[in-house]
Amino acid sequence: MYICSLRSQIEALDPYTPGLSIDEIRQKYGLTSIIKMASNENPLGTSPLVQEAIARHAGDVFRYPRGGNPRLIEALANHHGVSRNSLVVGNGSDEIIDLLIRILADPDKHTIVCSNPCFALYPIQSRIAGVPLRRTQLKEDFSFDFEGLLSSVDEKTRLVFLTTPDNPSGFCPEREHVLQFAKDISKKNDHCLLLIDEAYMDFAPDEKAASLLAGHCMPDNVGIMRTFSKSFGLAGLRLGYAVLPETLANAFWRARLPFSVNILAEEAGLAALTDTAFREATLETVRTERARLFEELRALGCTVWPSAANYLLFALPKGMGSAEDCFTTLLQAGIIIRLLKSYSLPSHIRVSIGNTQENTAFLRAMRSYLSR
Ligand SMILES: *Cc1c(COP(=O)(O)O)cnc(C)c1O
Repeated sequence: MYICSLRSQIEALDPYTPGLSIDEIRQKYGLTSIIKMASNENPLGTSPLVQEAIARHAGDVFRYPRGGNPRLIEALANHHGVSRNSLVVGNGSDEIIDLLIRILADPDKHTIVCSNPCFALYPIQSRIAGVPLRRTQLKEDFSFDFEGLLSSVDEKTRLVFLTTPDNPSGFCPEREHVLQFAKDISKKNDHCLLLIDEAYMDFAPDEKAASLLAGHCMPDNVGIMRTFSKSFGLAGLRLGYAVLPETLANAFWRARLPFSVNILAEEAGLAALTDTAFREATLETVRTERARLFEELRALGCTVWPSAANYLLFALPKGMGSAEDCFTTLLQAGIIIRLLKSYSLPSHIRVSIGNTQENTAFLRAMRSYLSR
């Protein structure tokens, strides 16, 4: 008889908990209209040019994609003004995170450093790889403890994760502080990569001022990840990319599964890069609606943290119910928001910035919850 014996890292694993899906909630509560504000998806949906490109290439899916996704790499190199040799693409940033951990860190010899709380995938994939993790608490206001992170870096550290703007808080550090941090890491250990996840950077009030990629000031020990899942609206197709030191990018291509970026994702990515009107409208919607939600939630007595991303972190006014209760009440009204228990933040809530009608419906539901 087969006895399924797992690696100890897998036995003990708590999997990633995604936001609830619309289908799940529709079935559970018998609702017809559902608003999802739980996974930071694009508030305007899918670009029409992307939809045309997918339809146009539907007949090509019997083919394998071309190795190395050269057209997408070329388009991204032009988009960001960086060398093709420094670019990699993957099946979402998730694949890039997972693969860089396995490329850079040997489970028996190395460590990885990140904040606590942080995007759940960094610790989960580090654990699966068996690489020990050293975590530094965020400060009370959710800003980064750069000194604490730096003190966790030693000669064994191969990778430091930083998310700017951060998830789930939306905190965005000044670029000078990030540059100094990169310099400090390199002084301590020149085998250590600072991997900056800029998944939400284009939503920042001033992307050029905040981003190392957009500002063209990447030190040689820095890698930057970006994604098509958020401002480009392709979360369901799985497409992410990174700008890396060239030697590392080369190793990435050698280790990546040959066809992890599929034909439709590649065509959709190319189309998304050309649809500047859709992208501008997305950024405009997020910036305007973020300011409105921020003000209105504050006016309702909530504590709201300033956010440079397409979501807001907030806490209910004292004595006005629990995050869990608020979550369930909104769910019954057909609105999905995100609890943060898996980030060890049981009394906080994260809400994605929706379109104008969605945000209005969310605020109406919050007003009604808080005046019950
Ligand atoms: C959403 C998100 C991503 C994007 O992941 P994909 O795999 O590209 O969908 C990456 N990093 C963070 C912090 C995110 O919140």
